[in-house]
Amino acid sequence: MLAERRAKIVATIGPATSSPEALEKAIKAGMNVARLNFSHGKHEEHLKVLKTIRELSMKLQAPVSILQDLQGPKVRVGRFKNGSIEIKPGEVVTVTIEDVQGDVGLIPSDFKELILVAKPGIRILLDDGLMELEVLESGEKDLKAKVIYGGLLKDRKGMNLPGVPLPVDCLTEKDLKDLEFGIENKVDYVALSFVRRGQDIRILREMLEAKGSDARIVAKIEMMEALDNLEEIIRLSDAVMVARGDLAVEVGSSRLPGFQKKIIKLSNQMQKPVITATQMLDSMVENPRPTRAEITDVANAVLDGSDGLMLSAESASGHYPFICIRTMHEIITEVEKSEERYNKISMEHEFLSIPSAIGASACLSAMKLNAKAIVCLTTSGKTANIITSFRPQAKVIAVTDRIDVLNRLELIWGIQTFLIQTYKNMEDILVQVDRFMVNYGLARTGDRIILTLGQPIEVGSKTNALFVHIVGAEKDMKLVDSELPLRCQKLPII
Ligand code: PEP
Repeated sequence: MLAERRAKIVATIGPATSSPEALEKAIKAGMNVARLNFSHGKHEEHLKVLKTIRELSMKLQAPVSILQDLQGPKVRVGRFKNGSIEIKPGEVVTVTIEDVQGDVGLIPSDFKELILVAKPGIRILLDDGLMELEVLESGEKDLKAKVIYGGLLKDRKGMNLPGVPLPVDCLTEKDLKDLEFGIENKVDYVALSFVRRGQDIRILREMLEAKGSDARIVAKIEMMEALDNLEEIIRLSDAVMVARGDLAVEVGSSRLPGFQKKIIKLSNQMQKPVITATQMLDSMVENPRPTRAEITDVANAVLDGSDGLMLSAESASGHYPFICIRTMHEIITEVEKSEERYNKISMEHEFLSIPSAIGASACLSAMKLNAKAIVCLTTSGKTANIITSFRPQAKVIAVTDRIDVLNRLELIWGIQTFLIQTYKNMEDILVQVDRFMVNYGLARTGDRIILTLGQPIEVGSKTNALFVHIVGAEKDMKLVDSELPLRCQKLPII
């Protein structure tokens, strides 16, 4: 069953996965979150994908979160006459901010501030750090640099200046247009690239609020400056991404694992969902099987405490996108059999809010009473997030009458969601809960479950109560596989 897996799978959509058939396969393979990467593609292409996902999600009864990843002020090389150039170690090349096509020995860039910051001695890394230049001298419109590590430099590849503060805004003009598109089309999450400080998150939050958007913010941690301001950034964000591609270039590869663990740990402590991203199953872009190192990387990211694991080129443009998603599902499911991942609750947690205290009590009660599930009646999804942050072994089932909340919760560790019809009183709730728990095979008559809810129910209060319930739906039976919501079915064949 797909729903047995607790850590979620974020798959980047691209040419390999953007047709309706491919999107259906991706959801059936185990995709929980679709990442639309706004570094690529046109608005009309993203819109088609977005609408198809919403339709498929209803058809399959499988909530999917849509994450809009803004490009941010990514510095890139321009285009070359023949699509690429070869740069060789020891060669001196010219990097120019003039609007020209590149050629042998000439690398254009549209990053106009380059000349201001690239002083002699500074390193310029190209294509995620595969190639390296050292600046020798800089002029008004161009600079001379020595190639330290060479290679084939293709059109529009990334350029990083590790540790150099860049005089640019976090949201570019392109990002603002893309954001407007995202808000209009109701994406569930907006990922902000190259976040440097809390203020970057505040600015985006104000923009979302001004437009009445419910979209939540994912802070992509990929810069040294962000690591210096990590606590503030995580506190102000709704979710976090360890964006290992750029982060590794910024901090140096050997420091990446330490920072990955630090970011995940802090996010877990601050009850913010955290995604580990980039090159998790990179060799599967070309091959149908992952390497041993990749299998171990996925497993370790789960053990570190990630809520979600992300696929980039593997699902966007690889040769085996669905096998890749399913492989990730299988590795996660296997590693989650280890008991040590669960019950991360301790007296050191500060239960400062009522939902937080109720959530913690629900987890402890579930553990002590051997309850099958914690069923959380939630309006905004906040309590469900709090509950799973304690990593209970019991299933966490969030129910709400809002489809947008169901979709949004799909990113978070261990949350399974179901739609509930509007309810007026406790009896209304229990009849519906009993029915879907039994019908969907999540519990049997006589099983204990823990409910969290807000009383008085009629006025939609915030979570303030915990209720132990014995499932008692004598007349109901488990539905046949084809009638079940997708994730409650036996593992669908892809
Ligand atoms: C990353 O750098 O790892 C990342 C996820 O961001 P992007 O793919 O936008 O470079």
